[in-house]
Amino acid sequence: MDREAIVARDKKYLWHPYTPMAEYIESGDPIVVDRARGARLYDRDGREYLEGNSSWWASLLGHNHPRLVRALEEQLERFAHVALAGTTHEPAALLAEKLVAVTPERLTRVFYSDNGSTALEAAIKLSAQYWHQNGAPGKTRFLSLAEAFHGETLGVTALGGVDAFRRPFGGLVMSVTHLPSPAEDLDRALESLRGELERSSREIAALVVEPLVQGAGGMRLYSPEYLRRARELTEHYGVHLIVDEVFTGYGRTGPMWASSLAGIEPDVLCTAKGLSAGLLPFAATLASEEIFRGFDGGEERAFYYGHTYFGNPLGAAVALEVLRVYEEERILEGAEVRAAFLARAFDSLRGVPGVRNVRALGMIAAFDLEDEVDGYLSRAGWRVARAAKRRGALVRPLGNVVYLAPPLNVALEDLERLAAIVLESTREVLVEIEAEKKS
Ligand SMILES: *Cc1c(COP(=O)(O)O)cnc(C)c1O
Repeated sequence: MDREAIVARDKKYLWHPYTPMAEYIESGDPIVVDRARGARLYDRDGREYLEGNSSWWASLLGHNHPRLVRALEEQLERFAHVALAGTTHEPAALLAEKLVAVTPERLTRVFYSDNGSTALEAAIKLSAQYWHQNGAPGKTRFLSLAEAFHGETLGVTALGGVDAFRRPFGGLVMSVTHLPSPAEDLDRALESLRGELERSSREIAALVVEPLVQGAGGMRLYSPEYLRRARELTEHYGVHLIVDEVFTGYGRTGPMWASSLAGIEPDVLCTAKGLSAGLLPFAATLASEEIFRGFDGGEERAFYYGHTYFGNPLGAAVALEVLRVYEEERILEGAEVRAAFLARAFDSLRGVPGVRNVRALGMIAAFDLEDEVDGYLSRAGWRVARAAKRRGALVRPLGNVVYLAPPLNVALEDLERLAAIVLESTREVLVEIEAEKKS
């Protein structure tokens, strides 16, 4: 089928996530991916594009890493799926052992699911049920941060603090207290966390945070000090600390986990995206032994939660191989060099009129474009994205936030090209905006 025929059917029948469809049908010009290798996507029309955001932050080892493809094929030849209930299998068991070994010490048990949202959904249900059956049934409320993002199901939509995503469902979701974010003001964030715990810890099940970076909220970085103090405070007041490492895990911020960068031991850790490196939907929620033991006892104390594909053997086999690749190809060490380059490249935008908050952490670099509409609904970043696409790079913005979050093992020359494209495209758009202001 040729490119036009695919796009015609797409526009006639498909409904894309996070996409204003009328505008897309009218003028959208999607990349029709035919093949993908490393950090490159190849369109049916023969053009190629560098991946600026690892396919929604998942392809941390690039596309179709040969070792991951082989691991998937080998598992597929044995069997593709069994329910993780009354049956088990080597990939699930072995992966659980390895995950416990590579995560903070306090985490001893692995609960599988199939995407980041369900990993968080499992985390909040674990916490709520734990308190329900361990003498504190009043602890039913969750704390999260302003501008947080924890996924898409209705449960975790409640935790989310990005107004554009929450608004349509505001009347439906459970009650969550959104605390001020440390990305705005560390002292104020700590003060309000302390106050909330002091007043209401008897009603609070857990604090849920994205460690060090609020991703979808606009690549908002904050100090590890917040996590250290939040750990002390939640411990003191008997509240679970759930860290959402769906985006930050697997070396995105430098070390394997952003939690480790802050030196904290959470009660629950959620991982997805990098876990299966963009090959398959797969996720895990790790919990402490104390939480796990809180489910001991009769039938009625078991954790009654599990979607059909939880613990899927294909995902587990790939995730196992991902960990081996990290070790044998020294992915984190290699990413350090790339991260330093990326930060330097973005530094050149500091002080440029129209650009604010140039920042970088690990394999994330970002800046804000000045715009009257701030946040996710701004269209400013899309102008840079269009200019970058013409130059051969896929750079999906978050409103007025332009960022790169490429695969951790992106070839250095690809990374140089990617950064150059973003910088050139940004300068081009800034010049256009200046000219528009004058006319
Ligand atoms: C992407 C993301 C999620 C949701 O993961 P899905 O696999 O898209 O459901 C949750 N939390 C964070 C921090 C994320 O970046």
